[in-house]
Formats: sequence, C-alpha cells, structure tokens
Amino acid sequence: MARTKKIKKVLVANRGEVATRIIRACKELGIKTVAIYSEADSNGIWVKKADEAYMIPGDPIRAYLNFYKIVDLAKQTRCDGIHPGYGFLSENADFASYCEKRGLIFIGPKPEHIALFGDKIASKKAMKEVGVPVLPGTDEPITDIDYAKKIAREIGFPVIIKAAYGGGGRGMRIVEKESDFEELFRSATAEAEKFFGKGDVFIEKYVKNPRHIEIQIMADKYGNVIHLGERDCSIQRRHQKIVEIAPSPRLNDEVRRELYRVAVKSMFKLGYESVGTLEFLVDEDDNFYFIEMNTRLQVEHTVTETVTGVDLVQRMIQIAEGTRLPFLQEDIKFRGYAIEFRINAEDPDKNFAPSPGKITSYYSPGGPGVRIDAAVYKDYIIPPYYDSMIAKLTVWALSWEQTVNRAKRALDEFQVRGVPTNLPLLRQIVRDKDFLAGKFDTSYLDRKLPKFR
Ligand code: ADP
Repeated sequence: MARTKKIKKVLVANRGEVATRIIRACKELGIKTVAIYSEADSNGIWVKKADEAYMIPGDPIRAYLNFYKIVDLAKQTRCDGIHPGYGFLSENADFASYCEKRGLIFIGPKPEHIALFGDKIASKKAMKEVGVPVLPGTDEPITDIDYAKKIAREIGFPVIIKAAYGGGGRGMRIVEKESDFEELFRSATAEAEKFFGKGDVFIEKYVKNPRHIEIQIMADKYGNVIHLGERDCSIQRRHQKIVEIAPSPRLNDEVRRELYRVAVKSMFKLGYESVGTLEFLVDEDDNFYFIEMNTRLQVEHTVTETVTGVDLVQRMIQIAEGTRLPFLQEDIKFRGYAIEFRINAEDPDKNFAPSPGKITSYYSPGGPGVRIDAAVYKDYIIPPYYDSMIAKLTVWALSWEQTVNRAKRALDEFQVRGVPTNLPLLRQIVRDKDFLAGKFDTSYLDRKLPKFR
C-alpha cells in the first residue's frame, strides 16, 4: 500500500517558463516554493515568483544539473518535494532515486520507469512485449558498421539511425539508400557520442510522411491508469516540435480509440505512475507504431489541459503525495480544440539559429481562449546558454476553424522586439490552406518552408 504524505514545500529544479508553470500550480495548492537559478539567470521571472530563491554559482548549465547541490539545498530549505520540470534532470533516474534516498518526494515516475524509457531500445522491447506495435529494427545497440549495414539491408531502405540514449532529434540520420549508409552511420555515432556521451545507435524502418501522434497518460500509485487524449505534434522543424494540437484534427476515430487502448493497457501492465507521454508515428495507411515514451511533463501539456480542464502539474504533485485519481476515464470530457505555438528567439534569416539578446518591447496577446506561458518581459536579456523557447501561446475554441482564426488573431497581437523570433513563420503556418485542412505530417514544414519565405 502506498503512503500518503502531503507535500508542503517544493523545490523547482528548473528555469524559464516551466519553473513559472510549476510555481503557479504549487501556489494554487497552497504549497510553498523554492526556486533555483544560475548566475546568468538572476533576472529570471521565476526567481521573483517563488517564495524563496537561491543562486547556484558556476557554470550556467551545470547549475541546473548538479543534483547533489540541488538536493542539499532542498534539505536545507526544508522542502519535502522536488519537481524537475522538463529537460535538465527530469529524465535522470539517478536523480529520482537520490531524492528518495534523501527523504524527498520526486514529483514524477518511479526511477525504474525513467531508466527503462530513457533507453529507446529497451523501451521498444518492453512495449512490444505488452502488445504495442513498434517499427522493425535492431533490438540492441550497434557499433559494428558491417553488421549495421546487414541489418539495414534486411529491414529495407529507407531506414533511420537513432541515438539509443538520445533526444531532441540529435544523433538521428535518415538513410535513403545503401551507398549513403556508412557515412551517415559514422556521423550519427559521432553526434550521439558528443551530445549524450554514448555513441550507441540503433536502426529502425523509416516511415514516409508519418503523423506524430502522442497519448497523454496519467496513473496513480494504485493501478488507476487513464488517458487524456492525444496531441498531434506533426508540425516540426528538423524533428523538433513547433506547433502542437489537441485533439488531432485529422485522425480516424477507430485509430484514435485503438491508440488510447494500447496506451492505457501497456502503462497498466508496466505499473507506470505519474504523468507520461507515449509517442507514436501513424503512417499513410493509418498503421501506428510506438517510437518512444517521455516520462515527464511535456512542453505541450498545455493543449491537453486546455481541452480537458485537468491541471497536469497539480495532478502530478497529488499523485506523488499518494492521492488517488479523483476521476475515472469516463469523467474526462474533451471540449473543442487547442493549439500551442512555441515562440522561439531564433533568426529565420540565419537558418533559425538561436538569437539571444535583449527584448526591447514585449506585448503578449489576451482575450478569450488565449493562454500564455512565458518567462520573459520588456528589457529581459535572453541568455545564450539555454533553449531558445521564450514563450508558449495556447489558443482554444470550440471548432477547428474557430481555433485557427483565433490563432491568427493572437499571433498577430503578439509583439516581441529586439530579437528575431519565429513569430512570422507561425503566422504563415496558420494562414496556410493545408494547415486549415488538417493536411500535415512530419514533413509538412520542410516542404512548406521554401514557399513561406
Ligand atoms: P527524439 O527523442 O530525438 O525527439 P524521436 O524518436 O522522438 O526522437 O523522434 C522525433 C521525430 O523524428 C519524430 O516525431 C518523427 O518526426 C521523426 N522520426 C523518428 N523516428 C522515425 C521513423 N522511424 N520514421 C520516420 N520518422 C521518424
């Protein structure tokens, strides 16, 4: 039987908009918060929003990764829980275990599940065993190039090479034909080594023009597992999501139901706990395949919150406290459509390279059906060390068409000056006929970009 323990004070082990998001959730639950920040982040808005805030000196990135220091600070400030947000320590199983060892509640899944799903090969295997379709591919990491080539030939080109312990689209290479294989295999391995410290890669069948559909899962400590619907994250640039939608405007109902069924069943079988997301690719014939699972809160959770009315961050905290889910699957009602736009400080004229610097003027949209999650303001200087996302705009309306119209209006209201952003690109996407018609897959943006310029 799981224990129940009310969390009274949370250390937020993150920065930026997600730190603000977590602090907001805590405030509404009457939970005190402790923020951390690096030397480069002393002007961060989350630093002011928390009840207490402490600087972690030294390297600006390592400040958010130094888990011994972070846990020490949580103990010194008498916190009883730690929320890792997304990125940084959020999918570090050792961190989760260490929190528990020091008597802190890690607000997230069990370390064993973080470890399992952090390994893309092991997680595909585990999901296959519980009846979830996966793409044909290697079931162990490969380093030998001749063996790799043999496997690729067996799977049949095109194939995709992926970093076994990767993320963020890094260490990934699409190989159209055998003659390109060796070169791309070498560069994938080198990139995986550089970014993840492990050069291990695996190979799987490459799906042409798939849609990226992911299922939001929520599970308590008592075996109650529900889903909160899907998100369509097909609008990507270089395999990185930019626009996310709930529900998918063009998904066959039968496929949708089947995705929900396998997602809930597999998570029940594995004994998963907390929130989590199962990512699938859906091919042109509506076959679907599991690609990976994210054992954390995701950037795009806002669209799910908007169409279901469920606060995912508050639920995560309450699940970690040992509270039972207060609703059944049939209590979850989906209403309308939500679209989230990632506003990134990046320069469209420099191939979307990050464009840190000072925001000289900032005006965010409002009015009905508009939600903003941001951590920037006028005169804020975006530091160069972190992700380029500066704000998220989430719009909601009852019909798909109304939602797209609202998105146009809200994106037009949005003003960020001083640094280039991807706002002009987002405005073009929502004015595109194919977008309105729901005709998009993961190759949509690469296809459209030359026409948008
Ligand atoms: P990461 O963890 O690096 O984000 P994912 O495995 O989640 O990598 O894949 C990210 C994106 O890459 C997917 O949304 C999709 O666009 C593309 N992708 C991944 N695997 C395949 C595949 N087998 N076939 C086609 N596209 C793929």
